[in-house]
Amino acid sequence: MKTYLLPAEGQWYKANLHSHTTVSDGAWTPEEAKARYKERGYSILAYTDHDIMIPHPELAGEDFLPLTGFELSVVDPDPALTVFSQKRNCHLCFLAPTMEDTKQVLWHRRLYHWGFKEEYVPLVKYDEESVDFVRDYTPSCINEAIAIGRRAGYFITYNHPAWSLESYPEYMAYEGFHAMEVVNYGSLYTGCLDENLHVLSDMIRGGKLPYAVAADDNHNRTEDSFGGFTMIKAPALTYPAVFAALTNGDFYASEGPLFDEVYYEDGRVYVKAREAVSVSYHPDIRRQPCIVRAEEGKTSLTASFEVREHESAFFLVARDAAGKFACTRAYSAKALREE
Ligand SMILES: [Zn+2]
Ligand SMILES: [Zn+2]
Repeated sequence: MKTYLLPAEGQWYKANLHSHTTVSDGAWTPEEAKARYKERGYSILAYTDHDIMIPHPELAGEDFLPLTGFELSVVDPDPALTVFSQKRNCHLCFLAPTMEDTKQVLWHRRLYHWGFKEEYVPLVKYDEESVDFVRDYTPSCINEAIAIGRRAGYFITYNHPAWSLESYPEYMAYEGFHAMEVVNYGSLYTGCLDENLHVLSDMIRGGKLPYAVAADDNHNRTEDSFGGFTMIKAPALTYPAVFAALTNGDFYASEGPLFDEVYYEDGRVYVKAREAVSVSYHPDIRRQPCIVRAEEGKTSLTASFEVREHESAFFLVARDAAGKFACTRAYSAKALREE
């Protein structure tokens, strides 16, 4: 029996799941961002301004879906580090389960208002009964923030570990986020090493099964748009359909290469990729190279890999001749064997 690891049915929609506008420190207005992304073939743009959630229902149309969200920043207060660029951070994007009816979680009435323009504060909808959320750069506080978001139905991504100066001890302590950024293009553009396949690899070996997103995190003060995107497969371009696809993990991350089909059957995973010259298989434990290359001069290929008994999780990567990659989410090999 075939188990589709990316849905067989539905439409592919190109998305940027992390962006900033003039609501916070971005240079483009929300309208300009919509126009530019639409021009480049995107159907979905998540508005994730710093620490404030402003819905943009006025931008929704038949061929464009704005997702409502915000990016939470928790900064290491270590007083020995006097320069911001030395401080560790944890940044998470929270995407709301509805376009305009979700209240912002983790709001603080007075603090953390640095990232956005004060004129937007009266527009914030939050639970008036809630206690102001105080941020502390500790795994327990960050995990509490994630848990609060999950309880309110948000989709949560863990962002740009390289820019954040976070490594294994930090990111392995975080629990409950849906996805991690395997590519943060804005960060890459400034020279940070935010191509994070090694982080995804660490996570599956440590027992986590995150989804993978690639995003621009564009601020548009430099050429930081259109480098990392997420391909989402959903039955329709509506908020409920796309949000359900996100929480189900019906998507993959990319800098260019595309997956047309990924499925599992009788102990093997089968992959069809294009704009790519190789596909590789990355299980939690196995050293042998598991790579299939396209025929000389071709930029599409099909590949299959054995999912061995002792493997518990894996993800797949397709690469083009320039080294740009697409990456699937992490899948549970154990769950596939047991189906
Ligand atoms: Zn960030
Ligand atoms: Zn950001």
